Amino acid sequence: MAEKGFDLRTAQEAEGEKKYILTEDAKKESKFGKLVFEFPQERNEVVAEGDPEDFVVKPQAYFRGASQIPGSEFNQSYQIFVKPFFLDRIQHRHAKDEFLVFLGASFPNVFDFDARIEFTLGKGEEAETYVITKPTIIRIPAGVYHCPLNFKEINKPVLFLATLFTPMFGGIYDLPDGKTMEMYYNGPVQCKYNAQKKCDSCGKCLQEDWQN
Ligand SMILES: [Zn+2]
Repeated sequence: MAEKGFDLRTAQEAEGEKKYILTEDAKKESKFGKLVFEFPQERNEVVAEGDPEDFVVKPQAYFRGASQIPGSEFNQSYQIFVKPFFLDRIQHRHAKDEFLVFLGASFPNVFDFDARIEFTLGKGEEAETYVITKPTIIRIPAGVYHCPLNFKEINKPVLFLATLFTPMFGGIYDLPDGKTMEMYYNGPVQCKYNAQKKCDSCGKCLQEDWQN
């Protein structure tokens, strides 16, 4: 059957096609290059003292949001947990929705799942703890308190994705004195404007436009 209207030639066949390998120079001369980003390999650097580091497979991939693709209104992690780990102990909330995904990582079958993870939604009297024993996704609406998140039993590897609909990862924490504190974290990356400096999550690069 004849297709209407679409150019079905492959990139090789099409003449004059602009094809890019993602170097920094190619990104500069391309129109859409800033929308295409190769994941850097990351290694978890934040582990509480005394905790083992080998609970998660190295390296991990993280999409750090607008600092990596300008204009992005979300950030996301891709981690494979192989040992029990108390990931997030401190209750907090966010200005936008967050989604947590738990899938089996004995690929290719994501339903091959054998783990027990506990996650709390809500605060104080309304707090509810959910025990995750099957592939699950959880929506945390903006402003809703959540955590702790505890990977209690890992009998088979678990793929964990945390997606937060803000340009940079962070959270809002209640302090004992009744004040609140906003904390941001952009990973162990270097500053976009100063190669000597580690990113301190100042947020300057979040203002960039992908078209400039
Ligand atoms: Zn959260």
